[in-house]
Amino acid sequence: MITAKLQEPLLSELSQAGKQAYTLRKSSIKEYHKNLDGKFTRTDVDLPELSEVEVVRHFTRLSTKNYGVDTGMYPLGSCTMKYNPKINEDIAAKEGLAYSHPLFGEEQAQGSLEIIYTLQELLKTITGFSHITLNPMAGAQAELAGILITRAYFEDKKEKRHTILVPDLAHGTNPASAALGNFKTQEIKCGKQGILEASLVEQYMTNDIAALMITNPNTLGLFEEEILKITKIVHDHGGLVYMDGANLNALLGITKIAPMGVDLMHINLHKTFSTPHGGGGPGAGPLCVNEKLSPYLPIPLVTKNGTTYSLITETKKSIGRMGLFQGNFGILVRALTYILSLGNENIKKVSEAAIIAANYIKEHLKNDYHLPYTKDCMHECIFTDKFQKENGVTTLNIAKSLLDYGIHPPTVYFPLVVSGALMIEPTECESKRNLDHFISVMKELAADAKTNPDKLKNAPRETPVKRVDEVNAVKNLVLTWKKIIS
Ligand SMILES: *Cc1c(COP(=O)(O)O)cnc(C)c1O
Repeated sequence: MITAKLQEPLLSELSQAGKQAYTLRKSSIKEYHKNLDGKFTRTDVDLPELSEVEVVRHFTRLSTKNYGVDTGMYPLGSCTMKYNPKINEDIAAKEGLAYSHPLFGEEQAQGSLEIIYTLQELLKTITGFSHITLNPMAGAQAELAGILITRAYFEDKKEKRHTILVPDLAHGTNPASAALGNFKTQEIKCGKQGILEASLVEQYMTNDIAALMITNPNTLGLFEEEILKITKIVHDHGGLVYMDGANLNALLGITKIAPMGVDLMHINLHKTFSTPHGGGGPGAGPLCVNEKLSPYLPIPLVTKNGTTYSLITETKKSIGRMGLFQGNFGILVRALTYILSLGNENIKKVSEAAIIAANYIKEHLKNDYHLPYTKDCMHECIFTDKFQKENGVTTLNIAKSLLDYGIHPPTVYFPLVVSGALMIEPTECESKRNLDHFISVMKELAADAKTNPDKLKNAPRETPVKRVDEVNAVKNLVLTWKKIIS
């Protein structure tokens, strides 16, 4: 096959009947050999037939088409695509950890339990909560755990509450989790300044509201300045406050969450604590709760008595298990490595640098792109395509054009309340040089949108795949390779 070709065929297209990756020498064990030579042949299972080197080259070529945070800037807002320091990987790959088995008895697993326990304690210190579980596998699953805890709490109190208040800025997982927990959702709009107003929350609070789910900083990258008033109002009406902690990267070492009056909050280790992220996982979504909700935490719980660590596999009021064993242990190891290698003195610098980077971009691009909310932002900033639309250039065109400059686009068209949103989260990992490069490319695109809008409308030109027909892809889902190539 031609090696430098940009379009990479499927293995099935490369297949040639009769090719094999390797041949085995004749085995002296009769039975074994009979099986190999017997009925179970390739034709039965219709797999591609290729030599080993062809398979290796196929996957190696594909790997060079992948874009990741190890390749370049990845300003995907809300996702906190920060660099994963390689020391995290080194530690997670240590034999004693990589081969530790979840069915080891407590005695053999003391080291692994110590890791879980230590991470629990550190996350409690960082957030100010008294109790935590590391079991959920992602933020969304932690939300579900939080919602189930909310349900269990009110059932225990024999209070009938059916509704969860969700701001219009919320991530889609918030209402989805509420619905999975059998609650209705009530949407509440953010104010003109882009934050939730306490006076509006007051109007919505009834005895039917079980909880308010709030994201802080919110998905506009703005700090919820009325948070203390809001949590008080919710509590005065007997409700709980759930904080979506996906944006914790803006608050590390700067402020604690529990004292804001938050009852439960999830953390996305794969965002804030620099563990691998993307392609569907694995992740980890610890859930922090306060004292009164701790009896409902999922099992197993990891505790320490003297110098011994143990698992609690049954509690009277637990909502049950969120998954097998102790969650994504390898991710927990990476997060602990990240926190310990930063140390107390550096953890605050992470958030400070993330906030400065986002504001730097906001200030440099605010004359080129429409800035719908002008307040100082936290760790991400939101622009729109309002100026570019005058020349028929949309957010999608801008995002696709960035690909031609080798830059991953920001999050687009989210949050939903901002028309044509471009949500930029540079994270603390980008140098000033990289930020300046990103800014200069964005400025160039803004200028091109005026003088040469077709350049943006026809982007990308440089990528192996140009624009895909997304509508068709959704409407006519094709999952078998035969249909794709025919
Ligand atoms: C990422 C994100 C979630 C969901 O977290 P996952 O770990 O992807 O399940 C929820 N809310 C916000 C604001 C997010 O950015």
